[in-house]
Amino acid sequence: MDTVVKMACRQCDSVDRLNVPAKSFEAYAVGGENITMVFPAMLVNDRELLMQAAREMRGAFHWYLCPTCWDGMGEA
Ligand SMILES: [Zn+2]
Repeated sequence: MDTVVKMACRQCDSVDRLNVPAKSFEAYAVGGENITMVFPAMLVNDRELLMQAAREMRGAFHWYLCPTCWDGMGEA
């Protein structure tokens, strides 16, 4: 079964969503497995989304930017 991981961008109004197997996300976010082991083929942007979502779950500091805003930062 898949779960939908959502993160709102800090900079704009976009909300990014990613479908991942619930068990895999749990293994990473709750079980503390290494994200590159759990999702070896994942794109960097998607991995960032999961990393920030896991931080949010733990009540830790998180700062998610959507890929568009992330790219825009380099141009400023
Ligand atoms: Zn954005």
